[in-house]
This record gives sequence, structure tokens and C-alpha cells, in this order.
Amino acid sequence: MGIHERLGLSEVVNACGTYTPLGVSRSSAAVAAAVAAALPEFFVLEELGDRASEAIAHATGAEAGAVVHCTAAATTIAVAAAMAGSDPERIAALPDTTGMRHRVVLPAGHAVDYGQSNLQAVRLAGADVVLAGTEERCGVDELTAVLAGAEVACLLLVSSRLVRPGEPVDLAAAVRAAHGHGVPVIIDGAAQFPRVGELLATGADAVLISGQKYLASPTAGLVLGTRQLVRAVRAQDKGIGRGMKPTKEAIVGVLAALDEWQAADREEWVAREAAKVADFVRAAGRLPGISAREWADPAGLPVSRVVLSVSDGVDAAALAAKLRAGRPPIFVMTDRAGSGELVLELVSLADEEVRTILERLDAELPR
Ligand SMILES: *Cc1c(COP(=O)(O)O)cnc(C)c1O
Repeated sequence: MGIHERLGLSEVVNACGTYTPLGVSRSSAAVAAAVAAALPEFFVLEELGDRASEAIAHATGAEAGAVVHCTAAATTIAVAAAMAGSDPERIAALPDTTGMRHRVVLPAGHAVDYGQSNLQAVRLAGADVVLAGTEERCGVDELTAVLAGAEVACLLLVSSRLVRPGEPVDLAAAVRAAHGHGVPVIIDGAAQFPRVGELLATGADAVLISGQKYLASPTAGLVLGTRQLVRAVRAQDKGIGRGMKPTKEAIVGVLAALDEWQAADREEWVAREAAKVADFVRAAGRLPGISAREWADPAGLPVSRVVLSVSDGVDAAALAAKLRAGRPPIFVMTDRAGSGELVLELVSLADEEVRTILERLDAELPR
């Protein structure tokens, strides 16, 4: 009996990508085995943390790394680290920031909601958010004006499909502007693990990654960064980071996932996912009442999504509801349903699941 049946749970087809409400990703058998091996054991957690730092550095080229509970936690903890450093009294005082630089600058278009507003993740550390520019545009000039203000602790940037669709912020130029004012920079790249080298190359002091997204580890927030900032991140364990700590099994799972990532043939992976998308677009395009196209990732991930546009007379939201209500329930992205479009990500899906989606679309579409 499978785990879904045993617990009385729905077995779903997730075409929403690394989507938190559906369990985010599928870990490999090797990662699952590493987690299972860790659970019955004791460890010196400090040693495990050191091993994680070395492995993250080796896999990504960052100076050092730390594992925390998730990226939402990593945002709060990295901001805390930027304010309190490794000073035990300051760490114990947070979220009271008396005597600390406590303003966190963020381009207005980088205020995002991944199920929680990232502004709340910042404020949770005790910091105040200062938005720069407008949602449509935040150039280096606008950013510089805000960075020059008093009490700035760090600049937070976000690399995600969730950022506002205005003119993109030049991340490397923003990092240079912040460093020009002696301000450290944190980049939230939660769902951007395949692009981590590019994000580190901006010169940011820390890049935050969700292990459970494209790395397919157990839920974990990876902080990749300078030795100094990573040390300060780990030091928050004795403060507000306590409730956001990683589990031993998550750290061991991250180590296994990093090993697999390094051993994998990435070009082959990209080619395989591209073929999956192209085949799906071709097959879906033959169905009545919809057209299909490939949608390159706006944040620059090397995998595309599929956009299904419904014809007049077909209601995209109703079609998504039918897919969700059937067996197995199929979840697709409905953010653009108002404009007659459904979006699908196929990355974690097996061929059989992709076939199921096509069959169910065929059955649900009017003819
Ligand atoms: C998913 C996501 C988060 C939250 O990550 P968790 O690991 O679930 O806490 C934060 N920022 C962005 C841009 C995300 O996509």
C-alpha cells in the first residue's frame, strides 16, 4: 500500500512546478536513503554544519554556506545576521534593534509574496523595510539615493518569476551600488538553484536557495556567502534563528542532493526537459479548443513552462477546476486564467503523468 492510500490522501499530478502547497519537489532514492540513515543517529550538529558549509562551497563556488529551515527563514536570519553580526548580546536582543543599523533596502518591484510577503520575513528580524524606486522601475540612481540614507543594514534583492514585470533591476549594478556605501547584499534566489553561479557572480554577500525546490533535497534554506556573513548566520541559532533551525536529516539530505547535483549531466537534463516541453506543446496543440506554446522562464532558469490558451467559449478557470476535481486531481497554474491562459511546469513529472494530463485535457475540452 502506498503512502497516500495508507494515510487517506489524494495522489495528485503537480504541474505547478516547485509549489509549496503540493510538496515542492521529488527527492531521489539516494536522498531519501541518506535521510533515512540520518534519522536514527546522533550527530555533533556543529560538525554537520561545518560539513554542509564545505559541501555548499565545493558545489557552488561560494566561500561558505549554512543550512537553515527554509528560504523564508533564511531571509529573516540573513537580515538578523546583517544587523547583529556574531555579537552574542545583539543576537539575544533581536528583534529589538536598539543601537544597530536596522533598515533593509529593497527595490519596490522585489516586494514579493511566495505565500508570505517577504517584507514580513524581513520585519520578523526587527528590521524596517525601505522600498526604492517604483514597481515598474528601480535604477541604480534610485537605489543609491536610498542606500545613502542612515542606518542601512543591508540590501535585499530577489531573483524570481515573482518580481514585478517592470524593467528588471540590474543585480550586479545594484550590488556595486550597495558595496559603494559599505552595505552588504542578500539575494533571495529560492527557486534559482540552477543559476546559483550567476547569482554569486553578482558579488552578493549571500545568496539564499530553497533546497527543496530545484535541488530536490528535504526542506532546507541554503545560505551561500562570505565566511563572515555565513558565520553570523550560524550564530543566530542562539537567537531568533532557533525556531528556524535545520533538522539533522535535512542537512544530511542536502549533502546527498549536492553530491547528486554535481554528478549529474546538466546539459542532458536541460535537453530532456526541453524535449518534454516540446512534445507536450505539439500534442496539446492538436487538442480541440486550446493552443499551446512554450514560455521561457523570465528569471532565466534553463527550463521552460507551457502556456495553454483556451479558445472563445472555453473558460480557463473552469477547465482548471475540472482537472483538479477529476481523478487523479491535476493541478495547473491559474494566475493568468483571467486572460484565458493556464500555465504548466513539467519538470518533476514522469512521462506517464504527462500522458495523463493530455488525456484529461482531451476528455474535458468541449468538441
Ligand atoms: C519559494 C520562495 C521563497 C520561500 O521559500 P521557502 O523555502 O518555502 O521558505 C522565498 N522567496 C522566493 C522568491 C521563493 O520563490
